[in-house]
Amino acid sequence: MRDSPGFTPVFPVVLPGHRSSVVRTTYARAVTAARPHQDRPRILLLAGSSEASELAARLAAEPALAVTSSFAGRVKALSLPPGDVRVGGFGGPEGLARWITENRIAAVIDATHPFTANMPHHVVLACRSTNVPHLRVLRPEWVPAPGDRWTVVPDLDAAAAALRQKGARRVFLTTGRQELAPFAHADPETWFLVRSIEMPEPMPLGHAEVLLSRGPFTVADERALMQHHGIDTLVTKNSGGSAAAAKLEAARALGVDVVIIARPSAEGISVGTTDEALAWCQGVAGLSPSSDVPG
Ligand code: NAP
Repeated sequence: MRDSPGFTPVFPVVLPGHRSSVVRTTYARAVTAARPHQDRPRILLLAGSSEASELAARLAAEPALAVTSSFAGRVKALSLPPGDVRVGGFGGPEGLARWITENRIAAVIDATHPFTANMPHHVVLACRSTNVPHLRVLRPEWVPAPGDRWTVVPDLDAAAAALRQKGARRVFLTTGRQELAPFAHADPETWFLVRSIEMPEPMPLGHAEVLLSRGPFTVADERALMQHHGIDTLVTKNSGGSAAAAKLEAARALGVDVVIIARPSAEGISVGTTDEALAWCQGVAGLSPSSDVPG
C-alpha cells in the first residue's frame, strides 16, 4: 500500500529514543477524501497483535476515519502500519486519558496481545474517565483437540513447576524473550530451545539455544524443528489465532507434551475479529446505522 502510486511517505521511519515519541507515517492520498483529515473521527488503536496491524490498514483505508496506532516500543524492528503511529507508554491510565483528550480521540480499540498485562485495564479506566467508547479485539483462544497432551497452567511460574514435575528434558519454549526468568531454576538436565523475534537480553537460561524467528510457521516446519531437536515438551501461552497454531498441530502429531498457559481474564467488551472491530468503529463514527457490539 505504501509504495502504491496513491501514497507518498511524508516522514521516514523513526524509532523511539525517548518515552513517548510520535512517528508520523501519514501518507498523502492522491485521491481527495470526503472529509478533511483533521475533521475525521480519530481512532486510537493500541497495537501489539496481528489483528492490530490488519485493522490499522483497514481503518487507514476508510476515507471518513483517521487512525493512530500506538506501540509499546518493545520490538526494535517495528513493522509500521499505514496511518499515524506513536511509540511508547502514555504514563499510566491518567496519561492515557490526557492523551485521548488532547488528541480528540473518538474511540479506542485495544488490539494489544491477549496476554498484555496492564494496558487493557488502563484503557478501561482512561475511557471511563474521558467518556470515550472502547472495544477490545481478542482473538478466540485455542482449545484442545483429540490427541493433544495439554497441561493447562495459570502462569509462567506454574509452567516452570510443571516442567520440573514432568521431568521434561528437551523443551521448546515459545513464551517470549521477556518471560524466561521463571525457567531459570529448571532442573539442570533440562535443555531449552528458546524461540523469539529478538535476542533475549539478558539471557537467564544457561542450558539453552536461541532461535530468532518470526511467524507465521507451517506445521511441516514446526514438526521438522521439534524432531530435529528431540523436543519432548512445548511451552506456550494460549495466545490463539492461526499464525502460531502450527506448533500445536505439530506437537499433537509427534505426541509431544504441551504446557499451555491459560489466558488472563478480560474485562470490558470484546470482539473476536477485525471485521467486527471495523464495523464498531464505523458505528461509533456514525458511518453505519448501528453496530451489534454495544459501546
Ligand atoms: P503491559 O504490562 O500492559 O505494558 C507495560 C506498559 O507499556 C504499559 O503500562 C504501557 O505504558 C505501555 N504499553 C503497552 N502497550 C502499549 C501500546 N500498545 N501503546 C503504548 N504503550 C503501551 O503489557 P506487556 O505484557 O508488557 O506487553 C507490552 C506490549 O507487547 C503490548 O503492546 C502487547 O500487545 C505486546 N505483546 C505482549 C505479549 C505478551 O505476551 N505479554 C506478546 C506479544 C506482544 P504506560 O502505562 O506508560 O502507558
